Amino acid sequence: MPVQPDRETLPANQKRQLIDWDRSHVWHPFTQHSLWNAVDPLIIVGGDGEYLFDADGNRYIDGHSSLWCNIHGHRRPEINSAIIKQLDRIAHSTQLGLASPSAIRLAKRLVDLAPPGLTKVFYSDDGSTSVEVAVKMAYGYWHHVGQPQRSRCVALRNAYHGDTIGAVSLGGIDLFHGVYAPLLFKVQFAPSPYCYRCPLGKCRDTCSLACADEVGRLLNEHRGQVAAVVVEPLIQCAAGMITAPPGHLRRVRELCDRYDVLLIADEVATGMGRTGRMFACEHENVVPDLMCVSKGLTGGYLPLAATLATERIYEAFLGPIDSGRTFYHGHTFTGNPLGCVAALANLDIFESDRTLEQLPAKIERLTGHLRHLADNPHVGNVRQCGMIAGIELVKDKATREAYPYGLQVGAQVCAHARQYGVIIRPLADVIVIMPPLIISPESIDHLMNTVERCIEETVPRLGAGTCDGLE
Ligand SMILES: *Cc1c(COP(=O)(O)O)cnc(C)c1O
Repeated sequence: MPVQPDRETLPANQKRQLIDWDRSHVWHPFTQHSLWNAVDPLIIVGGDGEYLFDADGNRYIDGHSSLWCNIHGHRRPEINSAIIKQLDRIAHSTQLGLASPSAIRLAKRLVDLAPPGLTKVFYSDDGSTSVEVAVKMAYGYWHHVGQPQRSRCVALRNAYHGDTIGAVSLGGIDLFHGVYAPLLFKVQFAPSPYCYRCPLGKCRDTCSLACADEVGRLLNEHRGQVAAVVVEPLIQCAAGMITAPPGHLRRVRELCDRYDVLLIADEVATGMGRTGRMFACEHENVVPDLMCVSKGLTGGYLPLAATLATERIYEAFLGPIDSGRTFYHGHTFTGNPLGCVAALANLDIFESDRTLEQLPAKIERLTGHLRHLADNPHVGNVRQCGMIAGIELVKDKATREAYPYGLQVGAQVCAHARQYGVIIRPLADVIVIMPPLIISPESIDHLMNTVERCIEETVPRLGAGTCDGLE
């Protein structure tokens, strides 16, 4: 790995000290610390474009967009200077009882970009809270229009909507959510649109979207009791980049219309160009009643989220002050100006870089690599949705048998990739590819060739191996 001579590095003793303090004091997210503490963590000190730099000056492709949020690359001058300019004005003032130019301008921009009919923007801090807001709005809506018995949500198995308790309630990943079951509110779950391992035992060519129709069955069974259906449009990301069959989202929208239920689209991962369109819902001409955006909203710079709502929902919350209709929800940093100007600069770059116009060629390049990988004996299934891809490794290609979880095959492949200058992170045994949209064709090639190489160099020797500690 070439050391970048112009890069800031950390002196060895400082690095040592930080590693010790990390072990002593930092509790990392989604991390088993008995493994984490066994090896030295990689400390990232800088970034540029699609690259990350570690404390020794090594350069890596940021293959997961710093957890699915970076869009136009690191250290973008336009976003940096927007934040710096805002810092010279004010870092934060509240949205409670006061307004600010950046939050107003961003709301207008988001409404102009969003599917038609989503006219109101409610800010929060992260994806989880944007989903909580949507659920409370959906329930509040029905309450205020005289149907308080509509208190249930329908979600999909394998869903991921965040880690706060409300968002976990809507989640369907047992590995993450099982322990907390007693804390959760009750949700009706429809099958995951996981064609490679169809929960209904159907075949994609002949299923006629039976999994989506299960949503209809639940809506019928709980007629008049459901406030909203919550979905990740097109792709269940955290579950392992599970791509829904075309038409799934549209069918769910139609079912929501038939049973007069609100549709919440959680675009936290899929929004901001990641699927090739600004929002995933556009692919199927679906207009949700509530839409959540976060991760890429600020280009991956600062935490900010928005829940977009229709006029119909908003109006149900109007009334005299003693009507009990006020939406009593908000966070201290709601609509933070630094986040809002970063988001505005992010949207400006979509225009100046013509980001969406550049994507088809990159998506096609990624497709080429994925097609090739699909033939690999260790690869059971490849899935792609725009600039998002998942490569599912399997023990037995013919039977689709998975590796035992304890073997951490995905983690091992990803750990190995670091020596070739690539940072990726798996979801169980699905290798996740989700680079910044700015990524160059050459970097796509390096990223994907590295994945192939690491599968070949790692998987065959993993008989009774144990995880080396890198998650
Ligand atoms: C990441 C994610 C969330 C949670 O967002 P946080 O910012 O981590 O709270 C919610 N929904 C989806 C679809 C996500 O991918």
